[in-house]
Amino acid sequence: MKFATKLLHAGTAGYGEYGSTTLPICQTTAFKHDTAEEMEAIFTGEKAGFVYSRVNNPTVSAFERRLAELEEGKSAAACSSGMAAISLAVLNIVKSGDEIISGSGIFGGTYSFFGGLYRYGIKTVYPRHSTAECFEKYITDKTRLIFIEAIGNPKLDVPDIVQIAAFAHKYGLPLMVDSTSVTPYLMQAINYGADIVIHSTSKFINGGGNSIGGIIIDSGRFVWEREKYPLFKNFSKFGSFCYMAKLRAEQLKDYGSCMAPLNAYLTNTGLDTLAVRMDRICDNANKLARYLKICDKVQNVNYPGLTDHPDYETAKKQFGGRYGAILTIRVGTKEKAFSFINNLKYVFNAANIGDSKTLVIHPASTIYAADSDEQKVAAGIYDDLVRICVGLEDIDDIQADFGQALNKI
Ligand SMILES: *Cc1c(COP(=O)(O)O)cnc(C)c1O
Repeated sequence: MKFATKLLHAGTAGYGEYGSTTLPICQTTAFKHDTAEEMEAIFTGEKAGFVYSRVNNPTVSAFERRLAELEEGKSAAACSSGMAAISLAVLNIVKSGDEIISGSGIFGGTYSFFGGLYRYGIKTVYPRHSTAECFEKYITDKTRLIFIEAIGNPKLDVPDIVQIAAFAHKYGLPLMVDSTSVTPYLMQAINYGADIVIHSTSKFINGGGNSIGGIIIDSGRFVWEREKYPLFKNFSKFGSFCYMAKLRAEQLKDYGSCMAPLNAYLTNTGLDTLAVRMDRICDNANKLARYLKICDKVQNVNYPGLTDHPDYETAKKQFGGRYGAILTIRVGTKEKAFSFINNLKYVFNAANIGDSKTLVIHPASTIYAADSDEQKVAAGIYDDLVRICVGLEDIDDIQADFGQALNKI
């Protein structure tokens, strides 16, 4: 089955007993059971079932199954936000004394989360480039996780997943990939060797900007070797569900960052149109990048779909000829960047990505405002840089709005 068909039909069997064609919303806190014996069996994990919506809920489970299938994973857990997904997925693996190697130029919230882990004795290092060669220099006997983004937001570098997965596995380490910017439509990272895939579903998966959410998808393939990952000891009996069983029993249950049933419903509905949206968005972004490249007010256009982008070949190979929605431009000074943003007529100045509307933001004064100049440069953030996340409008109108705003700076 081709992806666009699978998108609409895989994992949707459990829509309930009444033949509902959309996912029913099970808006409940708890689930009653006829006998104490049955409740005991569910609580102890001997029987599958629902008890309390912080732990699992039928609407949320249906959404999880669907994404696990689309990403070619074994199991999935939905969370209250993309940051909840990242923090729970990482904390399921690392403990005090451990180290993480992360791509640089990653999403600001993830960077901030990794920074805060020093409070728990966990250190993160950021090689300048996301290549196996660069990462190798940072390997120590404390390294426990490799983390990258499919397309660095906003650095827009494209790591070679096959190469990095092979490198991670050589050292017995799991590779976690934040695939938010590409979605399963452009790439299934598990097929390239990733062990765990994360999405902020607030973005392209939802597509309409109406719900915060996140998801963790596990391939079920990584072997959590005892010496190196002692935390997994009690969960090895779950086999390929080892990672997910631990995550559900500990992080998801204890930190309580569950996805709300209504958000699962809204995001699940948005997911139906992922393929057509991503086709349109990627096409628009590619056209806009080419248009901005010949604008004399624009000094630099960064988009992995441009043939002179350093990672163009990797992007082409990994994402099937599509290059995502995000591009950045540099316009000379911070004042010009602000003037450009202020002169846009209908493009939104907003902090999110993956909306149906085209969005811009000035990252240096917002998402990265608290970072040092050195950190900003490492993340590819400059004072004159504007991030653009292209939406579903007609490309002629997007170009016209950008063109008139650029003419005024
Ligand atoms: C937005 C985003 C996140 C965080 O997701 P939230 O849903 O905002 O918590 C993580 N990674 C990437 C790449 C993002 O764009």
